[in-house]
Amino acid sequence: MNLDDAGRALAAECARYTAMGWMRGTSGNLSVVLDRDPLRLAVTVSGKDKGELTSDDVVVVDAAGETADPVKIPSAEAGLHGRIAAVSGAGAVVHVHAMAPVVAGEHWPDGVPLRDLEMLKGFGRAAHDDDVLIPVVPNSQDMRVLGDAFEAGYRADTPALIVARHGVYVWGDDLRQARHRAECLDWLLRFTVETRRAIP
Ligand SMILES: [Zn+2]
Repeated sequence: MNLDDAGRALAAECARYTAMGWMRGTSGNLSVVLDRDPLRLAVTVSGKDKGELTSDDVVVVDAAGETADPVKIPSAEAGLHGRIAAVSGAGAVVHVHAMAPVVAGEHWPDGVPLRDLEMLKGFGRAAHDDDVLIPVVPNSQDMRVLGDAFEAGYRADTPALIVARHGVYVWGDDLRQARHRAECLDWLLRFTVETRRAIP
């Protein structure tokens, strides 16, 4: 994918996520892989209203989230996008501040268990007899700390990471697959939170 196409696709996806209430107050960031070797990603720029991005509001970063761009500032979280893309082989990574993943992470700080739900199919898992655990890691402003925590709990069949009291990362082969997974995961986490047993 070239940078122009990436910019258009990222702006369109951000508008959709914003409409879902998942990118409030300039929060969240999306990326797509431009080149694999060496790894280069197009990531949304820092600080802009994600409902108003244009195809120009993206910046190229390396696997560490660093850019050679003299003007544009990548999201501070670009380093974790790079780490996730490098480790998982994903072609797109989405990071949003949706509420359900954060609430779920609060209830299950050691990982959110999911099982026997039809929507797991949309997350790439089985609807029956498949024990899924969405990893939860403590929040940090240091992307290397977050990246190490992500990698320590990484499983190729679980394309998501909850950052406690912060948000969620979901990835896929492309932006569309990542979005479908994020939508399904949000449903799964909302269901799990709303049906949890009250602690006696
Ligand atoms: Zn964030």
